[in-house]
Amino acid sequence: MAALDHLGELERTHSCGALRAADAGQTVVLMGWVAVRRDFGPLTFVDLRDRDGITQIVFDAEDAPEAHARAKEVRGEYVIAVRGEVVLRDQSARNLKIGTGEVEVQARELLILNEARTPPFQLDAPPDKLAAEEVRLKYRYLDLRRPFFQNVLRLRARTVGEIHRYMDEQGFTEIETPILIKSTPEGARDYVVPSRLYAGRFYALPQSPQIFKQICMIAGLDKYYQIARCFRDEDLRADRQPEFTQLDVEFSFATREQVYRLIEGLLARVFRLVGAELETPFPRLSYAEAMRRFGSDKPDLRFGMELQDLRPAVEGTAFAPFASALEAGGEVKGLVARGGAHLSRKQLDELQEVVKRYGAGALAWVKLGDEVSSSLLKALGEESVTRLAAQAGAEKGDAVLVVAGRASVVAAALGALRNEVARREKLIKPNTFAPLWVTEFPMFEFHEEDGRYYPMHHPFTSMVDEDIPAFGRAVEGGETHLLSGIRAKAYDAVVNGIEVAGGSIRIHRRDVQRLVFKALGLTEEKARERFGFFLDALEYGTPPHGGIAAGIERTLMALTGIDNIRDLMAFPKTASAADLMIDAPGAIDPHQLEELHINIGVE
Ligand code: ASP
Repeated sequence: MAALDHLGELERTHSCGALRAADAGQTVVLMGWVAVRRDFGPLTFVDLRDRDGITQIVFDAEDAPEAHARAKEVRGEYVIAVRGEVVLRDQSARNLKIGTGEVEVQARELLILNEARTPPFQLDAPPDKLAAEEVRLKYRYLDLRRPFFQNVLRLRARTVGEIHRYMDEQGFTEIETPILIKSTPEGARDYVVPSRLYAGRFYALPQSPQIFKQICMIAGLDKYYQIARCFRDEDLRADRQPEFTQLDVEFSFATREQVYRLIEGLLARVFRLVGAELETPFPRLSYAEAMRRFGSDKPDLRFGMELQDLRPAVEGTAFAPFASALEAGGEVKGLVARGGAHLSRKQLDELQEVVKRYGAGALAWVKLGDEVSSSLLKALGEESVTRLAAQAGAEKGDAVLVVAGRASVVAAALGALRNEVARREKLIKPNTFAPLWVTEFPMFEFHEEDGRYYPMHHPFTSMVDEDIPAFGRAVEGGETHLLSGIRAKAYDAVVNGIEVAGGSIRIHRRDVQRLVFKALGLTEEKARERFGFFLDALEYGTPPHGGIAAGIERTLMALTGIDNIRDLMAFPKTASAADLMIDAPGAIDPHQLEELHINIGVE
């Protein structure tokens, strides 16, 4: 064990990323972590790292024998302070890859401030050689030392700072809403917190501040925003976390156009932080058009490859998979992979796996190479296959990928396939940004499992004015099936295939809210039980209002191209909602359980 020195009153003069050729001759004090130590007899080199960068320190046995001897004791991740002189490196020893690469510090004095155990993984491993994520999550404090995270977390802070400035300039008031509340309406499971004072009662953590922000409008606060933490107990997908942060916004007398302008201005500002110019206004696609053309409600518009309706080419076919799909009211659609004639059997099989994951039975294909080849050749004959390829708009050298089935399955399968083909064929130019609004989402979606309608956004979303009569007929005239066609004043902002923000104009009238609850099969009693306070509030002069929420992590994903959401937050949880560093969730002691009136049925 190294003898440790006291920091005393010694102060840093520079960070480890600061020194340049112009600083040569200065005496400096640097502090940080030992990234690497290299011994060459009378010379020892240490790469000293802090959040700003790395500076090379030289310990010369002749020059400063004491410091040189001491330097032999330091190991990786030891915390040291060095006083020395900035000198220019020899021409041949310059490292232009790092900002400090023209200089080094000739150490005169070394303080060892703390030692470190050997880290369980290599911090400076190249990205493709990094240790398994579980190990890095367990030792998150070590992983966060890597420049990658230092940069990400600072960009995140700058992003949030920019958001605060923008919202303030736009006249919005930041209001904090509570974390211990009752169930909210976003449709995921709640995280609940038992109450000590009220036996058998529970708080819920907010899935979003939705009801509170609407209440802020009723309270005349007019323009609300908050950087809000949200908690959703969902089965996690790659881009989800049980707790995440969003910019939450609501304002009174809102129109959709005002929301679009506000968020376009915001995203343009934030993207400028990385030097990207988003063109405004963003293009818009209705939900129906997005699904039809791209098979997705968050289409990536950085590339084309639109879905093609192949019905005209296969209408009347005897080929059972196509015929039965069309007969049942389904679709036969495809997309053209430009230059895809080179796709091998193995690659086509892999693409088939993608569509199968989304419920499609199979992937049919046509390749227009020197000869026409196709999985459909036997079933349809060459003429029909050629017609189908022409209908899709394919040319020599291309491949057509075809899926048949229910419209929703065809859309989901081809939507995913479109992204996969673009990724594999490298159709996406780096550093391009394609924002858009997806508008007019359906109000309701029907769930086959329990045979009822659910809100597609949440139950406080209002419908487009033109659909009010049909809505009336659906709820009061018993024509329930009409609910599927009712469109909401709901919108998502999408960038590069990532849904960065979503919101809606809300219902501000008690009578309309009552009808929506009815459409959702929520009895008056149940509605009162869950949202009674809110329904009461609606009766005291609620202004028309609307809003939106933009995910901070999602925005950063679009901004940086980093596709792992855990890489964009300091202390994330795993895909199975565990915090490996603090080992949460954890047990609590019997005494605590008792106080909380909880009997978990084990000794
Ligand atoms: N509460 C919604 C959400 O968190 C956003 C909104 O409607 O403003 O997704």
